[in-house]
Amino acid sequence: MPIRPSEKARYPKDWKAISLAIRERAGNRCECEGECGLHRTNPGPRRCEEVNGEPAKWAKGTVVLTCAHLDHQPENCDPANLRSYCQRCHLRYDIDHHKETNAATRAAKSPQARLF
Ligand SMILES: [Zn+2]
Ligand SMILES: [Zn+2]
Repeated sequence: MPIRPSEKARYPKDWKAISLAIRERAGNRCECEGECGLHRTNPGPRRCEEVNGEPAKWAKGTVVLTCAHLDHQPENCDPANLRSYCQRCHLRYDIDHHKETNAATRAAKSPQARLF
């Protein structure tokens, strides 16, 4: 995900090292186990198969692992809050969050909107 300037300031200075450590923990693979809402299978969701630098299985192009914040707070760099996600999982995970955020913003701007 592109980082907006206002959000960039929220990342710690050693963010690069942190995200690299998370990628190492993940074994250079996407750590998503269905949190993004994709690849849900029966029984249960399975882990995403994407490997950093390899041709993507689910999409065109090459997999680039990125580091996602589960609570969407860049300040929270606890390893438990961080996941190494391929771009597809990360995008999906964030899109759900953006939808929620936008809905909350609309509701706050116009309280009546919730009535209709
Ligand atoms: Zn993935
Ligand atoms: Zn996923």
